[in-house]
Amino acid sequence: MPELPEVEFAAKRLRHAVAGRVIVRLEALHPSQQKYLPDAARRAAEGLTIVRVERRAKVQLLHLHGGAILEVHFRMTGDWEFTRVGDTPPRHERVRLETADGVRVSLVDSRALGVVRLHAPGAYVPPIIGPEPLTDDFTADGFRAALVRRRGPIKPALLDQKLVAGVGNIYASEALWEARIHPATAANTLSRQRVTRLRDAVRLVLETAPTERYYGRDDVDEHELWRVYGREGEPCRCCGAALKRLSQAGRSTFYCARCQRR
Ligand SMILES: [Zn+2]
Repeated sequence: MPELPEVEFAAKRLRHAVAGRVIVRLEALHPSQQKYLPDAARRAAEGLTIVRVERRAKVQLLHLHGGAILEVHFRMTGDWEFTRVGDTPPRHERVRLETADGVRVSLVDSRALGVVRLHAPGAYVPPIIGPEPLTDDFTADGFRAALVRRRGPIKPALLDQKLVAGVGNIYASEALWEARIHPATAANTLSRQRVTRLRDAVRLVLETAPTERYYGRDDVDEHELWRVYGREGEPCRCCGAALKRLSQAGRSTFYCARCQRR
């Protein structure tokens, strides 16, 4: 599942491919997309220039000339694939966008859960979400103020987009290991010092994400990439103890019981 670094990587490639270019064709190729992109919406986008591509949390926003916005959610398996008009289309292509100079951008999505939706000028209402973790908006004080109001363990809290935007299951486990905080620690009991360490760890794991080395490739052993994620039973990279897994709010969490304290 793409998380913030993967969506940022995708947005960067999209920006490079289409920013400043004119949409000549927009097609919903799968029933899952046709309900989000009805004919009228697709026709409204055709002929417009893509002014800029923005990422907010895990959402990509294509700002079109005149103020309309194409909103894109990859959800579980979405990604972009870039080809030229006339090339063989990629597998699992759900939405196709073609530019006046022959670039074809496909939303490829094996599970077809992604969403591409057009908002008329002024109609897009951004969701209420927390600060972007890689900006100065994500302060230790603000993070602490949000955490002291939380009951329950820290790991599920980190996945709450209202607390901090774009942290998903992989990077939450990774950050807690970096910060040496046990994932079951009650969020509202963390000291100021530990909250600061966790904030720094969230930024570190996102900044050093191995996205460009593994994302969309199948020749990379993911176990080599992560500190703890997916490595149950394997040795901790710090102390050598066998890593553990627990289930929290239906999601797997990986951690070192020796390095990470409550
Ligand atoms: Zn350890």
